[in-house]
Amino acid sequence: MRDIAYIALVSNLGDRAEYLALARRRLAALPGSRLLDASSIEETEAVGNVPQGPYLNQMVALETTLSSHALLDALHAIEHEAGRERTVPWGPRTLDLDIVMFEAQTISDPDLTVPHLELPHRDFWQRGIAELKGKERG
Ligand code: AMP
Repeated sequence: MRDIAYIALVSNLGDRAEYLALARRRLAALPGSRLLDASSIEETEAVGNVPQGPYLNQMVALETTLSSHALLDALHAIEHEAGRERTVPWGPRTLDLDIVMFEAQTISDPDLTVPHLELPHRDFWQRGIAELKGKERG
């Protein structure tokens, strides 16, 4: 089935803007997929107890025929290519990709919850989605 995934891109290590650009390129090249649009990039301060630099955030809209789990696997492969290591929970990361919302599907599996549980708590995700949906309406 064809759906639109809203995917959050975030980086706070190394060349942050280049990691976001890498993610956009890789998402655009996924099979059965088309990158429809990307939001403005927003910088946010890190939260939590781990000292680390500010994050660059961006939301993209990806039209795709991939299943939700195939898309999640693809996101993990892109994170891996960007050198992400899962060492410190809530710690710095070169690239983190999350499926925030689908236009049509909701998922409630042990390894995948969509809409993402953090959506109500992350204003910048909500702003990113509103920006993309506003552009769609033109
Ligand atoms: P993270 O540390 O943000 O990369 O997320 C770790 C795990 O969260 C992933 O391996 C997924 O299995 C799980 N997960 C659950 N819901 C989602 C979602 N909506 N988008 C991405 N990952 C998710």
